[in-house]
This record gives sequence, C-alpha cells and structure tokens, in this order.
Amino acid sequence: PPSGRTGVLAALDADQARAAEVVDGPVAVIAGPGSGKTRMLTHRIAHLIRDCGVPAGNCLAITFTRRATEELRSRLAVLLPGRTRKCAVESFHSLGLGILKAHGALLGLPADFRVADEAERRSALAAALSIGEKAAGRLIKKVSALKRSAAPAEGEDGEALETLARLGREAGWVDFDDLVGLSVELLERNPEIARRWRGRFTHILADEFQDIDAWQYRILKVLAGENGNLCVIGDPDQAIYGFRGADATCFERFAQDFPSAKTIRLGRNYRSSGAIVAAASAIVGRAAEETAVRPTGDSIVLHTASSEGAEAVFVGGTIETLMGGHDMLAANRKTGGKKASGPLGFADVAVLYRTDAQAAALRAVFDRAGIPFRKSTPAPIAGHEGVVAILDALAGQSGQDRAPDLQARLEAAADAAARREETGAATLAEAKGWLKTLAAAYGDEKALREQVALSTEADFHDARADRVSLLTMHAAKGLEFPVVFVVGLEDGLVPFSFPGSPEDAGSLAEERRLFYVAVTRARDRLFLTRATERFWYGKTCALPPSPFLQDIPPHLTRHETAAAPAPRAKQYNLF
Ligand code: ATP
Ligand code: MG
Repeated sequence: PPSGRTGVLAALDADQARAAEVVDGPVAVIAGPGSGKTRMLTHRIAHLIRDCGVPAGNCLAITFTRRATEELRSRLAVLLPGRTRKCAVESFHSLGLGILKAHGALLGLPADFRVADEAERRSALAAALSIGEKAAGRLIKKVSALKRSAAPAEGEDGEALETLARLGREAGWVDFDDLVGLSVELLERNPEIARRWRGRFTHILADEFQDIDAWQYRILKVLAGENGNLCVIGDPDQAIYGFRGADATCFERFAQDFPSAKTIRLGRNYRSSGAIVAAASAIVGRAAEETAVRPTGDSIVLHTASSEGAEAVFVGGTIETLMGGHDMLAANRKTGGKKASGPLGFADVAVLYRTDAQAAALRAVFDRAGIPFRKSTPAPIAGHEGVVAILDALAGQSGQDRAPDLQARLEAAADAAARREETGAATLAEAKGWLKTLAAAYGDEKALREQVALSTEADFHDARADRVSLLTMHAAKGLEFPVVFVVGLEDGLVPFSFPGSPEDAGSLAEERRLFYVAVTRARDRLFLTRATERFWYGKTCALPPSPFLQDIPPHLTRHETAAAPAPRAKQYNLF
C-alpha cells in the first residue's frame, strides 16, 4: 500500500515511510532483499534535509564500497537536485581516512601520510623479513584477517604485524586495514575530538549493516554517541562476510548498546517475481514471510551441462536469445556500447559465480559470440596493482624524458592490468583513457592513488556501460538485474569447500546465505546452471549437484536442455 505521505516520502510504502520518518534516536531496519531498504535510506536522507531542516552537511551515509557510495550519491542527486553535495556519503575506509587526515598527528602520523596498497606493503615486508613476495602476501592476508576480527596476533603473524607497523611509520604510510581501527583509537582516546565529530554528523545511516566488522561497529558507536541518531539497515540472512571477521551478532549488539532503539521491518519484496521470492525463501528455510509485489512471472530455469564449457555455451546462447539475436548486437554497436533504451540490454544481465576461476570459460564463449561483458577484478588488491602498475609506468613519462623502454613498460603494465582487471577488452589506449578520466575526476595523481587504494572489488564494476556483468556472488551484493544466471551449482563450489577438507557448520550456513544473495539479485528471469564435469583443482571431476538446489520447490522450476536458437543467429559470423 502507498504510504499516503506527501513530498519525498510519497514514493515509499507505509512501512518504508515509517522507517524513514523516525528521525530521532537509534533505529534498526531489518528486512529481506529487494524490500526497499536502500531506497528507504536515500528517502530518509532526503526527508531529513528537505522536511526536517537538517543541514545536508550533518548527514552521513555509510556503506562498504566506493561503488555503493557512488550509487547512493546518484540516487540522492535525483531526489534532491543541487542539494546533496554537502551530504557525506562515505565508505568506512574513506571516513577513517578523513578522520586520520584531520587528527593523525595525535597518533604520530606525518601530515602527508598516505594509504599503502597491498603491493607496496608486500614488497616492503618481503624485503624487511627477507622472504619471498608470495610468503609476504600470505602473511599480509592473515594479519588483515586478524585485524578485522580484532583478534590478537601471535608468532610469525605477530612479527609481521609489528614489522608492517614499523615500516609504515618509517615510510609515512598507513595500512588500508588500519584506517578504521586507528580512527576508532583516536576518537575513543580523545573525547573532545569525538564530540566534535558527533556535532558534525548528527544523523548517521549505515547500509548493509549485517556485514559490519568489530572496528566498523565501534566507529559507528563512537560517532553516534549514546542516544545518537543512528539508523542501521540490513538483512541478517544476507550476511556473507563472516569469513572476513564480520560480526554476526551486530543487530543484537546494536539493540544492547542502544536500548531505546526502534526496530522496523519491511515486508514486501519489490524486486523479484513471485517464483524467485518463493525459491529464495525456501533456500534459507522459511515460509515466504514477505510478499512478492509482483507475484506472477517466469519459472526458474534449471540447466545441466556436460562440462563448464558447455555451461558457458548455454549461458551465451541464452543471452543471445534474450537479446533477440544479432539485431541486439547491432544496436549495441550503434549506441557505442552505452546502454540503449530498448527492452533489454546487455547491462540488464549478470552472470554470478562462486570463484573467479569460473569466469574463464564464460569469457571465452562471450568473446567468440561478441557479447560485451565486464568482469569485476579477481580480488580487491589485484585491481589496485594493475592501476598502480600503470601509474608507475606513466610516471616515467613526465617531462621530456622519453625513456626508450617506456612504451614497453606501459604496454606491459596495461597488459598486466588488463589481465588482472579482465575487462575483456582493455587495451593500452583504453587503460590510458581510463586513467585520464580518473585523474581529471580526482584532481591529481596522489588523490587518485588514494582512491585506488580505497577501492574494493565491486568498485571495478561499471553499471553504466551496456555490458553483461560477470561477478562473484560476493561482489553482487546490493545490486539487482532483470536477468541473472547463477552458474557452477555443484557441491564443492556451492557450498564451496576445499577438496578433502570438510566444511564446518558455520561456513556451510554462510555459503547458503551467499547463494541466497545470488538468487535474490534477479528481478525477472533466473537461470541456475551446473556442469556434470568440471576441471577442479588440477583434474577433471564429476561433481554432484549443489545440495541447495534440492531446497527449491520443483513447481517453481523448469528444465531446459539447450538454449533456444537465437533469431538469425548465423549472422553472428559477420562480426
Ligand atoms: P538488498 O537487500 O538486496 O540490498 P534492498 O532492500 O536494499 O535490497 P532496494 O534495492 O532498495 O532493496 O529496492 C529493490 C528494488 O525495489 C529497487 O528497484 C527499488 O527501487 C524498488 N522499490 C523498493 N521499494 C519500492 C516502492 N515502495 N515502490 C516502488 N519500487 C520500490
Ligand atoms: Mg540494499
């Protein structure tokens, strides 16, 4: 039912409007995927600014990735034309950076400290401990995990931790993982400064709260103060970062720490068709609590392929069919790769998988068929490395100094970046163009480097280009697409387990939630595919179907043996 409100809140339903309206004191909004949590968040900010007279600069919206902050900013710009520039929309890391920039001296940081990416930390650590880069990389990963869970580091981990801290102090850099922890330390030790920040951000909103870790929670808590206006938004069923130290009890802790908090639940799913909502509820083992606003829709398609190559062919063929064959490709070329305002574009399609290795077969098929695609980076850090490598190469270009090996270095760096970014088509020219755009957007190279260091996996996914998105299930959180393929639904991949090492109950539950997140990205069409044989850990294995598939009621699904032939598919050869 519509909210019956006027103004900004008219675009919300009654529950959403109630959540957006309670602007004083702590509030938790807990609701399932597609229920409009993020929509509520943006409208709540608009309501605060437009209807409650809260200065935009006093609002802080916080999310996990830069990509998500950009999404929030653009949605806000539509709601509040010209008035949102002052509203702070930050990732936890950019917030931490801002606080350390303002007061880092209190922690002994130099005024011009910078954020080191993993590549830089890895080489520094490898040199300091006289170990290989790979070993250093492993240590850094372990230390990062320990830091996120605020667990004590012992033995070689402890040594690595101390060495990294010393190296940072000597060279004037701060570890990406420390931005939030150091700010918490600073604010907790300096009540006067904390008070000033509380005066700056009188209204705080945090999206995807279910994935928050111990430090991130503490920074929210210290900024909100005791009866602070803190609104936390999330879905415990979508918690997928336990392996990285996210705190599964965050909503309970919030209720304990803020006893006056109100809890508001949203009950309708606006995103997905009825079959998708019903399947998703079955996956997490409960009756469909929320009602699908769009009860009708296609059944979910199941497909079993003989190999991962055949699986990719099915995905590619189905995309071609959905696009109406070569006409759609031609249209894509005419619009210069920008999303056409047709019924369905490539950007409306996402292919989600559990591990990055699965993308290779898909890329090969898409390349052959001329299906444009964009892939998120294999790991957060790999993306930074690629960009940093190009930056380093470009740095050599300054002035008249045209070193004879410059071209080779640039090409090698761009090539490395292209492989790492795996955008499918990154050429040297594209990479340079991309950097120019970024540099223009961020002013100078130093700022740019900072932005790159603050980026995470999902940031390298550009929603505006008309390309199919190839994403890990993790990177897909918060996003939605009319058409979603979830591939590789085999036991061992979904749930994921290393061969020979049984998974524990906790990680099994997290894998189930991850599958739930994947399925609930779909609006209209959902395709679930698996291969009976796959190259897996060095050999071809016959993997049984994912046990999660059995939880989907059969009446919601239909089996398809092959992609329907695309109209005039033969003409593909012309491209
Ligand atoms: P997730 O848990 O996956 O992040 P969410 O709860 O944040 O999901 P949104 O992304 O805010 O959900 O909303 C899902 C979709 O439903 C969006 O396209 C949104 O615009 C639409 N939607 C939400 N609420 C309404 C509403 N009251 N009227 C019309 N459309 C709505
Ligand atoms: Mg959301």
